[in-house]
Amino acid sequence: MSGLSEPTSELAAAVLAGDEPIFHPNTGKPIEEVFTLHPAAAAGLDVPRYCQICGRRMVAQVRPDGWHTKCSRHGELDSEWLYVEHLPES
Ligand SMILES: [Zn+2]
Repeated sequence: MSGLSEPTSELAAAVLAGDEPIFHPNTGKPIEEVFTLHPAAAAGLDVPRYCQICGRRMVAQVRPDGWHTKCSRHGELDSEWLYVEHLPES
């Protein structure tokens, strides 16, 4: 382990469980209002800058190997947690 805390935040739990976002993580807009995204965001490559639960703007830190964001209400989310969970199954 690289010293990261475990994904125990409410935000991480929602993302890892595959919960439908309420707010878009790249735009902060209610998900049903989001129709067009730039290609990187649509592909999920962009750093999520808004909490998908409350739409609050998060503190985002970009590392060479990923990113880390934090909602002041719903906790932290780290790209490392997502990559572990989203390995291709093919
Ligand atoms: Zn939040």
